Amino acid sequence: MDPQHLVVHKFGGTSLAGAERIRAAAEIVLGRPEPRRAVVVSAMAGVTDALARAVALASARDAGYERELEALRERHRQTAAELLPPDAAATFGRAMARELADVHDVLRAAWILRHAPRGGADLVTGAGEVWAARLLAAYLGTRGADGAWLDAREVLVAEPGEGTARVEWAASEARLRAWEARHGGIPPTLVITGFVASTAAGVPATLGRNGSDYSASIFGALLGADEIHIWTDVDGVMSANPRLVPEAIVLDRLSYREAMELAHFGARVVHPATMGPAVERGIPLYIRNTFRPDAAGTRIDADGAPVGMVKGLSTVEGVALLNLEGTGMRDVPGTAHRLFGALREAGVEALMVSQGSSQNSLCLAVPAAHAEVARRAVDAAFFAERHHGQVGETEVDPGCCLLAVVGDGMAGNPGVAARFFGALGKAGINIRAIAQGSSERNISVVVGGSEAERALRAAHAGLYLSRQTVSIGVIGSGIVGAALLDQLAERAGAILRGRGVDLRVRAIANSRAMALDGRRIPLGDWRCALGQGEPLDLEAFAAHVQTEHLPHAVIVDCTADEAIARRYGEWLRRGIHVVTPNKRANTLDLAYYQELRRLGGGVGAHYLYETTVGAGLPIIQTLRDLIDTGDEVQRVEGVLSGTLSYLFNSFDGVRPFSDLVAEARRGGYTEPDPRDDLSGADVARKVVILAREMGIDLEMADVELEGLVPEELRGGDVDDFLHRLRDHDEPMTRLWRQAEERGERLRFVGAVDRDGRASVRLRAYPAQHALARLNLTDNLVQFQTRRYTPNPLIVQGPGAGPEVTAAGVFADLLRLASYLGTSP
Ligand code: ADP
Ligand code: ASP
Ligand code: MG
Repeated sequence: MDPQHLVVHKFGGTSLAGAERIRAAAEIVLGRPEPRRAVVVSAMAGVTDALARAVALASARDAGYERELEALRERHRQTAAELLPPDAAATFGRAMARELADVHDVLRAAWILRHAPRGGADLVTGAGEVWAARLLAAYLGTRGADGAWLDAREVLVAEPGEGTARVEWAASEARLRAWEARHGGIPPTLVITGFVASTAAGVPATLGRNGSDYSASIFGALLGADEIHIWTDVDGVMSANPRLVPEAIVLDRLSYREAMELAHFGARVVHPATMGPAVERGIPLYIRNTFRPDAAGTRIDADGAPVGMVKGLSTVEGVALLNLEGTGMRDVPGTAHRLFGALREAGVEALMVSQGSSQNSLCLAVPAAHAEVARRAVDAAFFAERHHGQVGETEVDPGCCLLAVVGDGMAGNPGVAARFFGALGKAGINIRAIAQGSSERNISVVVGGSEAERALRAAHAGLYLSRQTVSIGVIGSGIVGAALLDQLAERAGAILRGRGVDLRVRAIANSRAMALDGRRIPLGDWRCALGQGEPLDLEAFAAHVQTEHLPHAVIVDCTADEAIARRYGEWLRRGIHVVTPNKRANTLDLAYYQELRRLGGGVGAHYLYETTVGAGLPIIQTLRDLIDTGDEVQRVEGVLSGTLSYLFNSFDGVRPFSDLVAEARRGGYTEPDPRDDLSGADVARKVVILAREMGIDLEMADVELEGLVPEELRGGDVDDFLHRLRDHDEPMTRLWRQAEERGERLRFVGAVDRDGRASVRLRAYPAQHALARLNLTDNLVQFQTRRYTPNPLIVQGPGAGPEVTAAGVFADLLRLASYLGTSP
């Protein structure tokens, strides 16, 4: 490395929040490979705020300012005691006492004057940087580094203005040379106060809030640095403020221009003025995290590696929208000139301007704090036009927010605006004004202030995430829900890599508890997450699943609960997709079913329930495809219960039927009460679902149901039932024998005809009939249609079991994602 290689490091307030953080910052400095370095420091976190408060209190004659100063003295004393050996801590204490005495005097003057002059206020607010620099330099000294520090007020000459101060480069350069001469050159490690400066006349000044980033690049330029590293509390510049958008990602590279745009539009991670001196000398900037010093951070340079179109999003809150409207503006040259002239006179900066080509109105965004001044200035400038009714009153809406999308790669690339506006539209956010310069590096919109965060998240999701990112809430952690979560745990990663479908389970609930996670619940550990969950609140659950920062939301209902099924309508209406193996919703009253079908028809939301019939077998989809392609379905008939399939596949006329039922129950093939299977109600539900899918208006009561639970066995407990079922073995065996004599098999079958006749009952089929040739828990559905004649279309396979049912639900989720991938 070049022996002159010099790097400027800047540490922000959070990186110097206390003794421990200062030690960590020093560790970074001490471990650096470059031969020379300058370390620019901010005040310890919160100190500038406290000093600014003290100024305000003193000016308002509130003695509370004394308490602020005392707290600051104590905080610094304690930090010094923790950080430094006693003699060095004492030296620090004496120096701080001298500076505090000056601060006191200035505040006393402010008290008397009822106001603090600019230089005085800047002397006070800049004191924190002096103390932080002393502390760090002293600590570096104890660690053997050359502990010199430079008070920027002796070197940096700047004239404070409305916003950022203006640097006097030549004067600053000369003072730096003088400083070098006094100190025998620049030491290998030099600590410098950020934020502070003085005017050419020697009056204390500051560069403006958050200005020590700017100090770093100013000193980078003055010292001829090769690199500037800005150390803060995040991994770099991110695609949006991570405190507002949990999904924000770190940007590896940015161009100076992109960084400047993002900073200008409120990304406080780096001060907008910082890029200026770096651009001129081509010094690369790095934004890095003191908490993770090994992470690469963001590199900002001239090139910026223009990958992708959009780099970042940012918001400016506290914006007012001014609207000037009237026919008198049209074709009158100089309207804009007068408007901006008036604003300049009033010292108001326009953040954004927008005028339609009709020229009937001109709209601008200004800081809300300046809204009144701006309105008065504009009204005065257009006094005559207003008087003649050619221009209306200037309308002001002070409660707005500006949202900007930034990226060099947007230039010449269509599509970003569509995605940006599409995402805002989908989130129901009204756009009040729009601007895009012809450089196409930035699109800005103004939205209502209360919608700032929602707008930012929605836009970020629309621009950054896979369009097939789905926020998932699973209700029900019984056997199907659990199997689904385990399958998702195993496959979600591969599906994301392979197909770009990002399935994020962010909420899981059972009947008692729910676990919510902002990003995603670690699925390897979902049982533990649910175990530590909070009490179930279905309102909060749905609100969490549907979040602005993810494009789509789905609730998967793995319960058999009617109360939950009753909520689908509301969820679909809100745009939450519903996927379910729960048969309840589709078999409640017809009107509810029709409403769900209408709501879940795919405009706002999708409603998928393939697994309500035949578990994982493709039955609903097959039926739908037949109908959609114009076939006429004449009859659907089949074995629709795995349990009843098993019972009649095993019934050989030798073992009593009641024995088989008891054994199946022990083997877990039946519901806890086998009457729930034998009654045929479950099969009837499936028949209703199939009939309604065929467009037949069928209610449960319309199904001719001949169940297998004799009238007198309907009451009583399960054991009693199993015992008394033996009395009915005889007629069952007789039925079997009669069938056998005809070469037939008994099957418990549900069927529905085109004319709406629906039945569920025991039937006998010739041995070579498809329905006679079933194994184990097979389901079989045959579709007799106009096209599938004389041979029906048959779907057959295991139609029950947690694994296959869960896989069917999983497949519905993937089908949903593929629908979503085609919509913007
Ligand atoms: P420092 O004290 O180090 O100067 P700041 O608080 O001024 O730190 O800036 C860092 C903060 O900026 C982050 O903690 C983050 O909350 C905020 N921030 C806003 N926008 C962004 C963004 N696009 N990328 C990263 N951080 C951002
Ligand atoms: N300490 C100053 C402030 O809080 C400067 C900075 O942190 O950049 O504004
Ligand atoms: Mg900062």
